Amino acid sequence: MQRRRAQTASDNGNMQLYEDAAIVLRTHKLGEADRIITLLGREYGKIRAVAKGVRKPTSKFGGRLEPFMVVNAQFRHGRSLDIVAGAETLRAYSDPISRDYNRYTAGNTIVETADILTNADRGNDHYTLLLGALGSLARGDHTPELVRGSYILRALTIAGWQPIFDRCVRCGRTEPISHVAIALGGAVCDDCAVPGTPKVEAETLALLQALLLGDWSVADTSTSFARAESASIIAAYLQFVLERRISSITVGNQA
Ligand SMILES: [Zn+2]
Repeated sequence: MQRRRAQTASDNGNMQLYEDAAIVLRTHKLGEADRIITLLGREYGKIRAVAKGVRKPTSKFGGRLEPFMVVNAQFRHGRSLDIVAGAETLRAYSDPISRDYNRYTAGNTIVETADILTNADRGNDHYTLLLGALGSLARGDHTPELVRGSYILRALTIAGWQPIFDRCVRCGRTEPISHVAIALGGAVCDDCAVPGTPKVEAETLALLQALLLGDWSVADTSTSFARAESASIIAAYLQFVLERRISSITVGNQA
């Protein structure tokens, strides 16, 4: 892959371009034929740019700016939004993900989560994680719901919200842990669990830990019960973090 290349002003104008490997997170229509494309770039983090004429059948972009596509793209700085100047396909993940319902729904949650969690990021950890998750979905390496769960736990970890499932988050004991306290960020032991804390099976905690670490030998052989229980815990934890982030932004605006 090519390294980022910034071209400073050319001789006769202000055509400043930058280039990045980037994953298309979402698109929305703009005017008659254009779209605003939201991407996660390896070097630049979140990029929002207008693709002119992309909805015309004759567009030079073809289907390269659809969600889940990985492209090497050139952008031109614009007054409000940047403009996509060119895009070449690096990984054509859109079709293999979109034509399978379970892959598609998992993929949508993954790119939505990436969109929410990467606003201020410029590091490439998230790019690498997202690239791996979408590649796994596109190839059908693992059950899509497990890929989604693993992606969310690891994305939250990169964002500074790593959950703990292999010991009690309050006292550090490794057993007996049999509850998960979402607001504390993970598992709690029998002594530390306050009344009303939901009980969780040991196999579910083992699966959550495997998804967090990317230990697929454990995850792929998990039971459907553990998958269902872990999926609801992951969804609840993601929701908890997003609400905390939103409330901290609101508080920040009022200050
Ligand atoms: Zn404890």
